[in-house]
Amino acid sequence: MIAKIKQLAAAQAAALSAVRRHLHAHPELSFQETETAAFVAQQLTDMGLQPQRMADTGVVALIEGRPGGPTVALRADMDALPIQELNEVSYKSTRPGVMHACGHDVHTTSLLGTARILNQLKNEFRGTVKLIFQPGEETIPGGASLMIKAGVLENPAPRGVLGQHVFPKLPVGQVGLRSGRYMASADELYLTVRGRGGHGAMPELNLDPVLVAAHIIVAAQQIVSRRANPKMPSVLSFGKIIANGATNVIPDSVYIEGTFRTLDEKWRDEAHRHLRQLCEGLAASMGANCELEIRRGYPCLDNEPALTARTRAAMAAYVGEENVIDLDQWLAAEDFAYFSQAGPACFYRLGTRSADGQRGTASVHTPTFDVDETCLELGPGLMAWLTLQELGH
Ligand SMILES: [Zn+2]
Ligand SMILES: [Zn+2]
Repeated sequence: MIAKIKQLAAAQAAALSAVRRHLHAHPELSFQETETAAFVAQQLTDMGLQPQRMADTGVVALIEGRPGGPTVALRADMDALPIQELNEVSYKSTRPGVMHACGHDVHTTSLLGTARILNQLKNEFRGTVKLIFQPGEETIPGGASLMIKAGVLENPAPRGVLGQHVFPKLPVGQVGLRSGRYMASADELYLTVRGRGGHGAMPELNLDPVLVAAHIIVAAQQIVSRRANPKMPSVLSFGKIIANGATNVIPDSVYIEGTFRTLDEKWRDEAHRHLRQLCEGLAASMGANCELEIRRGYPCLDNEPALTARTRAAMAAYVGEENVIDLDQWLAAEDFAYFSQAGPACFYRLGTRSADGQRGTASVHTPTFDVDETCLELGPGLMAWLTLQELGH
C-alpha cells in the first residue's frame, strides 16, 4: 500500500505545485478567506466530493470508504499573515502586505492532495475521512474553536484528528513530532498606564507614566523568574510600547502590548492573577493607574500519546525510522490545540527546507519564508498513509 500511495503522490506533485502557487499568490488574512474557501470547495467538488461551508470561511468534506469503519479527521488551515513578501519568485504574493508566511498555502494544498489520494483509494478502506479546512489560525479566537463550536467534530465524530505543519528546521524527507504536551498557551496583554502629562522640566507637577511603565516592565519579569516553578517554562514578552511624548513632554499615558505563554494551564491562570496584581499595585504605589486587559488565546497543545505512538510508527514505515525526529517542546502557540483539547489529536511537522540548505531556510512569519516544493509529494502521501493506518484499512 505504501508503494501505491507514493506512486499516486508522485503523479500529482506537479499539479499540486500549481495549486500551491495559486494560493501563495492570492493570500487572504484570517477570517477573510472567501476566495481560498471557494477555491478549496471547487477542488473538492471536482474530485466528486460534496464540500460544505462552516464557520463562514471554513470548508468541510467527507470521503466515504466502505461502510462500517471509524472516522478520522484531517485538518489544514488556510489564512495568511499581514507581512509584505520579499521573495522574488513567479508566485510572489499579488496582495500588498499579505503573505502566506506560515505555510498555510502548503497545508491547504497538501490536504487537497491527501484528499485526492484517499478518494482514489476509497474502495480499499473502511470508514470515513473528514477533511477540515479551517479559517483564522493566526488570530484569536482561532478558526479551530469556531469550527468546533459549529459542530465540525460531530456527525460523524472522529476517533482522532491529524494536523500537519511546515517546518523549515527539517529538510524535505524528514518529519517531526512530540508525544504529550508540545506547544504553549498564549495570551495577549494590553496595558494602559495612566499618569498626568506636562512639561518635562517640571516632573513635580506631573505624574510620569513612562517611569511607571518602565518599572512595570522590569518588575513583571519576576513573575517568570521568581513566581513560576523553574521547571515549568513561561515566557513574558512586551513587543510594543507607545509613550507619545517628546524630549520635553511627559505624556498622559503609556500603552504596552505583550504576550504571556506557558505549558501549564493552572499556572497560566495564576500568572494572570500575579500580573494583574503587580501592574495595578505597582502603578498605585507610584500614584498612577494601570489597566491590564488579558485576551485569552489558545490553550496548550497536547498530542494524545496513543494516537501519537501509532502515528510515529506509521511515519517510520513511510519515511524510515531515521527520518522521524523527536521534537522538543516550544512556546509558540497553534489553534490546533483546540482540537487536541476536544479529543485525541496529533500535530506533526513536515520538513520543508531543501536538503542542500539552498531553499526554505527562512523561519515562518518572516518576509522571506518559502518552502522547497518537493515537500508537496511527501506531505499528502504521508498524511494519506497515516489516515489509512488510523482507519485500520
Ligand atoms: Zn503562524
Ligand atoms: Zn501556522
